[in-house]
Amino acid sequence: MQQKGVLLIVCGPSGVGKTSVCRQLRKDHDRLRFSVSVTTRPPRDKEVDGEDYHFVDPKEFDRMKEEGAFAEWAHVHGNQYGTTFETLRSAWAENSDLIFDIDYQGARQLKESFPDATSVLVVPPSMSTLRDRLSSRGSEDAETIDRRMDNARQELAQYEIFDFIVENDELEEAAETMECIYRAARHRRRFQAHRVESLLDDA
Ligand code: 5GP
Repeated sequence: MQQKGVLLIVCGPSGVGKTSVCRQLRKDHDRLRFSVSVTTRPPRDKEVDGEDYHFVDPKEFDRMKEEGAFAEWAHVHGNQYGTTFETLRSAWAENSDLIFDIDYQGARQLKESFPDATSVLVVPPSMSTLRDRLSSRGSEDAETIDRRMDNARQELAQYEIFDFIVENDELEEAAETMECIYRAARHRRRFQAHRVESLLDDA
């Protein structure tokens, strides 16, 4: 499958504020669509099927895996998550770019299949800030928070696979940096070659 639009992969430990950074960026860029993943995790309060995730049971997820429906998939925090080829196809059919909120295993797989994908690791200012942010969500118990902190360390240790690293201390600032990265990604040769080609045709 050939890459036809920007793939902006945003990773980082849960609680780091990826979702807010992505949301902020999408407010100003209609062309940028959120890649809705498939997951076996049960919905949280206020999560909408088809908007936040496509919620499926493990049997359905396995069936999709066997069919080769996933561009990437991974086990994260005891559940399965994946991005379908259909998500990429339909975005590109509408000339849209995609922003992904996925884990490092997914980032690695997407980069292997699409070397021009852009990957960003969002990091917290400190580990204690991260713990505070996780605790203040209120939806997770102590054991879950400890598991997520362990996962955070694992995720940060993978920093070498990423193209960019952005600290999320102030949301506005992190979102601005992310916007610069998105703009730069949009100007990759792959997405601008048509301009030069039409100039040459004109000459
Ligand atoms: P949560 O359950 O908190 O929504 O997400 C848990 C983790 O799964 C987050 O790190 C999130 O980025 C990751 N995740 C969400 N969707 C996908 C996906 O499609 N693929 C992969 N590899 N990770 C995902």
